[in-house]
Amino acid sequence: MLFAESMRFGTFGSDYDHYDDGPDVPDGYIPEGDALEFVFEHQRDAVEEAVRDEAAHWLNTGRQWLDLLNIVSRHDKEQLRETIRKGVTGAHTAESDASSESQLFAVASDAARLLESTGSPYAILCTLNNLTWANDLISLTRAFRELLFLLSESDNSWLVHYHLEKPLAEVNSALAMGRPAELKWGTVQHKDRKFFRRTNPESTPLHSHIAEWICEFMVVHSSSLGLSVCAECGTIFVRERRDNVYCSKACQNRIAYKRKKIFESGALVEEKIDPNAPSGLTRGMWISHPRLGLGRIEAVRFSDRRLWVQFEGHGFGERIPDGKTGEETLAKVREGRKEKPVSWEEVVDPRSIELRVRFLQIARTFRAWELFPHGKKAESIPTFYRVVDPSTLADLL
Ligand SMILES: [Zn+2]
Repeated sequence: MLFAESMRFGTFGSDYDHYDDGPDVPDGYIPEGDALEFVFEHQRDAVEEAVRDEAAHWLNTGRQWLDLLNIVSRHDKEQLRETIRKGVTGAHTAESDASSESQLFAVASDAARLLESTGSPYAILCTLNNLTWANDLISLTRAFRELLFLLSESDNSWLVHYHLEKPLAEVNSALAMGRPAELKWGTVQHKDRKFFRRTNPESTPLHSHIAEWICEFMVVHSSSLGLSVCAECGTIFVRERRDNVYCSKACQNRIAYKRKKIFESGALVEEKIDPNAPSGLTRGMWISHPRLGLGRIEAVRFSDRRLWVQFEGHGFGERIPDGKTGEETLAKVREGRKEKPVSWEEVVDPRSIELRVRFLQIARTFRAWELFPHGKKAESIPTFYRVVDPSTLADLL
């Protein structure tokens, strides 16, 4: 028999209230269920401080991963800037997005130096002989930056949900490359022996291990520790307030100065766009977004285009597939039909617009409700510009 004969089920201490003849309630006793509430009511500051301390401790422990992401992010920012410059001056190619060998090498050598200086077991695995790991690190850093941008977005959770898809897929594919951490026993940092978890670098690539770190941040610490990406230098920093966009006063001043220079130079001219007929929005135009800054429109697409064909006596409508022209779709409709159309037209739903914009830190796709938001304050609505002097603009970026 495992239990004493007088055994009953109950929660220790919770019965004090109910038995007059029971033991006296100790001074200061708080029923179990009320304890948490009590702590929050009377010790909220202490609780919040403890949570913040916990997050700060976590950040400190994983400092090298943040440093590593920052090495990549700062390099990658230069690379994105270069991509924009090329786009402005017309030298943009489809491959510009991919990292060139020399850029990869620059990221890899700085990252390898950091791993070596911290004595990381990844130092011997991440060498300059094969740069795949650096490429993976760049993709992961971009995804993390996007996640951080989305975290600092205002309350529009639906939009956030829409934009989360890609970066989440990137982080998850990184996670899938690794194995769960192993269980070990021994001393950690000269303390007593205990159990702990350790990633095996042989079975878990560097970017996969860092994806794990990112996950822990997103799940456990992101509510108490605000990380942000500097819109000017690409540094991931601890922000004081949600709307902190720059890592430092210096970066804030630099970007304000640059923007002023750009607008003063007359390289950009504002264009008013009619939301009901946004045909003025074309590739190569610029957008000034209240949070993300200046970006170049890389592609414009309307997802809802229809072909309307009028025959003698009746009409016929058909959706135009992505990537097809109205003429191509018309040719298909006419196939196998004897009668000739009297007229035809392409009807495009202006609300189905999608704009791909390249900012310094990220590329982002915007939908109509983000470009022409209803009932928003004027300063939170994007404005559009046409480039009249590409080389000056490229110089000033
Ligand atoms: Zn900065």
